[in-house]
Amino acid sequence: MKSITYCPICNSKQERWSIVNAEIAQFLVERIFNNANSEPVFLIQCKECSFLFFNPRLEQKEMSAIYTNYRDENYQKQRQKYEKGYTAEINYNIGFCSDQMKIRKQNLLNILTTTIGMDKIHDVLDFGGDMGQYIPDEIPEKYVYEISDVQAIKGVTMFKKLPDKKFDFIMCAHVLEHVPAPQEIIAQIKKVSRPDSVIYLEVPQEFYPSNLLKAYGKQILFSYFPWLMAMTKYKPIMHEHINFFSLKSVEKLCSNNSLDILYSQIKKIDYGYGETRLICCLARPNIKNRVGYE
Ligand SMILES: [Zn+2]
Repeated sequence: MKSITYCPICNSKQERWSIVNAEIAQFLVERIFNNANSEPVFLIQCKECSFLFFNPRLEQKEMSAIYTNYRDENYQKQRQKYEKGYTAEINYNIGFCSDQMKIRKQNLLNILTTTIGMDKIHDVLDFGGDMGQYIPDEIPEKYVYEISDVQAIKGVTMFKKLPDKKFDFIMCAHVLEHVPAPQEIIAQIKKVSRPDSVIYLEVPQEFYPSNLLKAYGKQILFSYFPWLMAMTKYKPIMHEHINFFSLKSVEKLCSNNSLDILYSQIKKIDYGYGETRLICCLARPNIKNRVGYE
């Protein structure tokens, strides 16, 4: 793991941070460090852009330890040792729950229809999109870029390396909350886009009080208020989500990387087991700043 001294979204320095002690989930301590002692971790709140993240950051070898053979049988068993409710059924349903898939596809379709129109989109690359199962059916040519060892669903072409091709539409959903350097992902997305391409970013909104209370109990709720946290013995726990975005920090990620925002909203969605919130953002390369484009 590697400590950083700047905000991974807005590059602000440590003077602009609130810092609280945190710990790594037992499941990850086994999966990444083989239960050896791991170094201390902190939850940082950037006061400049309101982004929350765990520091130090995971490096490549630790990311591989988590995401190689992600959600296979061994992953599920290893995780259930520490998280009793993480059954084989739940493991299967994450990512392949048909209701959730339908709702997410419909949400994206609505956003595209009401903003740019579907006639502008002939092809799509789903960046880090698993099997491509979240791509709206209405887009004629479908591609997915995914480094983990999965096969694309029917009708979707898989790339294992970033393709040397540019797309009308690039979507990146539920990826940025997992990665140590979100700005690097945006740089890669720009490599497969033209100035007139449209880029869609989607992340969960997790840090708002009622959700924290429901999902984690008061332990993590305290982390929402770092000053309160510092007065208690409770510690936030780092799991696979190492980043927690707000609408403001997603917008900042776009503006700091020369993307113009076409649409950005928090959507309240019910998958059938209670409300969840998605931060949905549609953007386009800023044509006044063609850095990175030929
Ligand atoms: Zn920041």
